[in-house]
Amino acid sequence: MSRRYFLEASIVDSKTHLAGDEAKHLAKVLRARPGEQVTLFAGDGLEHLAQILSVGKSQIELGILSSEEVSRESPRFLRLAVALPKGDRQRFLIEKCVELGVSQIVPLVAARSVAQPSGKALQRCRRYVIESAKQCGRNQLLRIDEACTAEQFWNQETTGRRLVAHPYGEGLTKFNALSGEDEVTIAVGPEGGFTDDEIAGAQSAGWTLLHLGPRILRVETAAFCVAARLLD
Ligand code: SAM
Repeated sequence: MSRRYFLEASIVDSKTHLAGDEAKHLAKVLRARPGEQVTLFAGDGLEHLAQILSVGKSQIELGILSSEEVSRESPRFLRLAVALPKGDRQRFLIEKCVELGVSQIVPLVAARSVAQPSGKALQRCRRYVIESAKQCGRNQLLRIDEACTAEQFWNQETTGRRLVAHPYGEGLTKFNALSGEDEVTIAVGPEGGFTDDEIAGAQSAGWTLLHLGPRILRVETAAFCVAARLLD
């Protein structure tokens, strides 16, 4: 796979251009020259082989050589509703979820949440998604929704199987019970855990509790555990 660059909009012509940080990286860091080839994607499922036509100060012109639909998606749609940690742990969580094939993240605001992603923080999260998709070859972007409170989320219309990862109480322990499900939503709580009221709210809205084993996992480990066990 040649080096991948992200375009903000789908390609509709035989020529396109890169601007901003993508162009700067290609021109200044990699010292790209006309004639060299790169791969472009816009998150719409297509992958394009492109040849550099000209390298300007702030813009790189490219000609499209070929375009094809290339899916590196998991056959199962996994939506993770996560009470996100802060800082580097948040970035790590999002990057690994992209690599593991998670389709959607809903930032969950629970009573014990430490991060309430909105505005610039959400933009940063979406930037991590693009960086990670460039690296791992996904041509569809993991979608990051607006933040939602746990109470709202339990009562939202969500298709497919709905589970709350919770270390205590009765619940589902075997992932093979999910083998026939092609859409699964799993909620992961904050470092301090979901409150009893939140767990009761989820159960009365029809959510099933899910155990991930006898050890208490950090938020990001719980998210990776679920993704690694459910996604190809
Ligand atoms: N003491 C906290 C509690 O009361 O839940 C532990 C929270 S844990 C660090 C963060 C989140 O990861 C939990 O809310 C849960 O969603 C998930 N989690 C961690 N370990 C788990 C396990 N063994 N089984 C199921 N979920 C787990």
